[in-house]
Amino acid sequence: MSLATIDQSLKDLSPEDLRTLAQRFAAELARVQRPNIRKLELFVTEDCNLRCDYCWVPKNPRCMSLDTAKRAIDFVLDDCGQAEKVAVTLFGGEPLLEFDLVRQIMGYAMERASALGKRIGWAMTTNGTLLSPRVVEFCLRRGLKFLLSVDGCRESHDIHRKFADGKGSFDEIVKWVPMLKRTQGWLGARMTLTPTNVHLLAQGVTTLVEQGVNQFLIGRDLASPWTAGAIHLLQEQWVAVGEAYQRLRAARRPVRLTVFEKDSRHDADKSDWWGCEAGRDKIAVMPSGDIYPCSRFIDKAGIQRTFWLGHVDVGLVAERTRQQLTDDRDVIRYKCMKCAHRNTCMGGCPATNYLCTGSPYIPPKIDCEMHTFWERLRHERPEFWAASEIPYGAGKGNSDECVGDGRLPQIRPTR
Ligand code: SF4
Ligand code: SF4
Repeated sequence: MSLATIDQSLKDLSPEDLRTLAQRFAAELARVQRPNIRKLELFVTEDCNLRCDYCWVPKNPRCMSLDTAKRAIDFVLDDCGQAEKVAVTLFGGEPLLEFDLVRQIMGYAMERASALGKRIGWAMTTNGTLLSPRVVEFCLRRGLKFLLSVDGCRESHDIHRKFADGKGSFDEIVKWVPMLKRTQGWLGARMTLTPTNVHLLAQGVTTLVEQGVNQFLIGRDLASPWTAGAIHLLQEQWVAVGEAYQRLRAARRPVRLTVFEKDSRHDADKSDWWGCEAGRDKIAVMPSGDIYPCSRFIDKAGIQRTFWLGHVDVGLVAERTRQQLTDDRDVIRYKCMKCAHRNTCMGGCPATNYLCTGSPYIPPKIDCEMHTFWERLRHERPEFWAASEIPYGAGKGNSDECVGDGRLPQIRPTR
């Protein structure tokens, strides 16, 4: 079609038609310009063998079909553009309840990735209670890294993380740590803090380090009532964790706590965008095949409805919703724009913001208080951050990448 014909056709359109056309053009432009998806959280199952009282994952005995998983893998491999590697995290519920499915998913994905000349970086968030030599050997041979959901020492963990019969699960997890450590040099713990166990944070970190865990992702349970007293305790505990971290690093122990590392958000210049990777280059896929920006967006029906992005059968169709998450205009973050920390802060977790304030752009007060605390601590205790520069002891890499030590597993199945 010639330009003159296009010109004439546009002149013939009514204002209403022009508006519709402009909207379609904007949506198509956004689709073409949107970042490629390179990270996938795969909800293998919503079911779990534990009954942690703070858990936000719906306990439906729904598990993903292999067909849905294949479509999710295909979607990410097709959408990742020039990226040589995509990251897939197996999530739940407890993904090891569906180990046969996990095996099939990994087999399919690795075959497809290799046919496309790409690689997959595997991770699994697990409560650890269903590990076995057979499971560990299978996963580690394929380069999967386990992240254990464990809340510190026995006392702090067993307050919340129990089996259906009320028994605590700490001992059932840590017994596997030596086996995992044989092949996974960097072993991470995902710790959840509540006002009831926050006083044990520093003790929990040191206990887990002695067990062999050496990376930490530490988060707060949002639904708990965080009073001013509990927040104060949390901040005191973080100082104690900083002191422990400094001691461990001075002893050349390979321990990572990203909040004290130089490349953390608290230290680096803020990137040129607000928000996070959710919906930008990361998605979460539920057993139903529905796509959300990240696992935090499945917390409640309301947030699920608002931030639904699509389905593995049709791809990312809710482009406008996705644009909401990648909208970097300062003007929509009026609270942040008035804030002294706007140059170091990304504006909070959009899912948490939405759950607490009803807007992905407005952070809850408690998160801003914590950000202010971290900024102050950086000035008052720079030695915590300086400790992250100390090289690890002999036999451990100095790389920033959290990787295993590269050896093949020496674990022998017992059956
Ligand atoms: S501290 Fe709070 S208000 Fe300030 S920039 Fe961060 S999220 Fe926004
Ligand atoms: S900051 Fe929140 S929304 Fe973003 S990836 Fe993390 S948990 Fe998900």
